[in-house]
Amino acid sequence: MDVTVVGSGPNGLAAAVICARAGLSVRVIEGQPTAGGGARSAPDPEFPGVLHDVCSAVHPLGLASPFFAEFDLAARGVQLVAPETSYANPLPDGTAAVAYRSLDRTCEELDDGASWRRLFGPLTEHVDGVLGFFLGDKRSLPPDLPTTVRAGLRVLTQGSPAWSLLRGEDARALFTGVGTHAISTMPSPVNSGAGVMLGTLAHTVGWPVPVGGTQMIPDALIADLRSHGGELVVGEPVTAPPEGVAIYDTAPTALLDIYGDAVPSRYAKALRRYRFGPGVCKVDFVLSGEIGWRDTRVGQSPTVHLGGTRAQMALAEREIAAGRHAEWPMTLVALPHLADPSRIDDQGRRPLWTYAHVPSGSTADLTETITGMFEDAAPGFRDLVVSSHCVPASQMSHHNANYVGGDIIVGGATLFAAMIGPTLRMNPWTTPIPKAYLCSSATPPGTGVHGMAGYYAARTVLRKEFGIGALPKLAP
Ligand SMILES: Cc1cc2nc3c(=O)[nH]c(=O)nc-3n(C[C@H](O)[C@H](O)[C@H](O)COP(=O)(O)OP(=O)(O)OC[C@H]3O[C@@H](n4cnc5c(N)ncnc54)[C@H](O)[C@@H]3O)c2cc1C
Repeated sequence: MDVTVVGSGPNGLAAAVICARAGLSVRVIEGQPTAGGGARSAPDPEFPGVLHDVCSAVHPLGLASPFFAEFDLAARGVQLVAPETSYANPLPDGTAAVAYRSLDRTCEELDDGASWRRLFGPLTEHVDGVLGFFLGDKRSLPPDLPTTVRAGLRVLTQGSPAWSLLRGEDARALFTGVGTHAISTMPSPVNSGAGVMLGTLAHTVGWPVPVGGTQMIPDALIADLRSHGGELVVGEPVTAPPEGVAIYDTAPTALLDIYGDAVPSRYAKALRRYRFGPGVCKVDFVLSGEIGWRDTRVGQSPTVHLGGTRAQMALAEREIAAGRHAEWPMTLVALPHLADPSRIDDQGRRPLWTYAHVPSGSTADLTETITGMFEDAAPGFRDLVVSSHCVPASQMSHHNANYVGGDIIVGGATLFAAMIGPTLRMNPWTTPIPKAYLCSSATPPGTGVHGMAGYYAARTVLRKEFGIGALPKLAP
């Protein structure tokens, strides 16, 4: 075997597809019984007609990523439906802030739309430049320097005490809620970086949901891998180095277990110092009907940020970073059936996807806390709940070894990780272990279903190990 990819998340599969298309023999070995990593879906155990997304649910990066654009998910039957409303943020007074695909409509409905327009207007006109910066390899010159500067200035401003330059409590909450997709204290460039990138996508490609569940994305990658001679093995956690070149879609620290004493001592030391961030508690509900939000506009939004005001979110993120549970934890919500009615079963039951930020390793079941937060924003919510299933942070690694302590960002929610990588190296997809490479979201450009870390890792492997300089075409 020329290349073994350890782990079948979107980055691992992206790397595998590229290597297979370059003519190499490729095997993907997945530790879990099913493939797809953070992009899997599974039927509800009690109501199998209801499909839950086990991890990721909403995919602006699936539309925006240069890897997926060339791979062409649509041509492979993956339908990403982006509704008119991208995301909403209920506020304690019963109103909500709403981000639409339309920047104009968003600005019209905010208290101070001009301020929101100053933040996003120039970026939405140059979305490719914004993506070139955020999804770039952080080693090459970004393709659009003026846009990179504009985006960078906004990240710095909104990631510092100058974040009050954004006017209006509603707009502040709206922006900060998006930023919390990167779990960090705030203001910080990590939070504002996520806010600027995902916020720009909300007003351009939108925040889509895949018809038939997120699993459609890895399934398309696996089909392409197989059609180019690649193999997939599931249910076999890798515990020893495979033969030949290995690309790890794992947490960097997994290399310590797999290579043991063969890890060069300085690198071993750096890996032992590697820190994971706070965790998440995932709660999947099955509902009998539509949620009666106090602000009815929220009912059109497949993504909802249930964190309250900017101050409430900042407090909650500070608490969990300090190892304490927040009274009002940042909670992310997805209602995929609003874009994909096929998720509703023949009895009208539908999935509600939520996760709340908690301290690393928390064993707490936050079902009741999350239910209480819904009751505040949508009285009567409790009566809709048909069933619920909780995976506490301490158990997240049982279904994906990368989520140590429940950290779904795999230690990547720092500026260092976003720009440099998991350890200090010129090329973050390499390791000093011969023939061992990293491709997971712990390497740039970080978290999300975009496949770009896999793309950069495969590019490195093809060049360094096989002398292949030109990347293969990815179109179907
Ligand atoms: C609850 C949750 C919600 C999310 N929501 C979104 C969202 O809406 N949109 C979005 O874009 N992103 C979202 N994300 C993030 C996204 O899922 C990840 O960033 C993305 O899946 C990372 O891809 P990856 O290939 O790097 O790793 P993963 O997808 O995590 O895949 C890694 C794979 O490696 C396997 N593995 C690990 N160790 C071994 C081993 N030793 N042997 C064999 N196999 C191994 C794991 O089982 C796993 O299958 C979410 C994540 C979570 C957990």
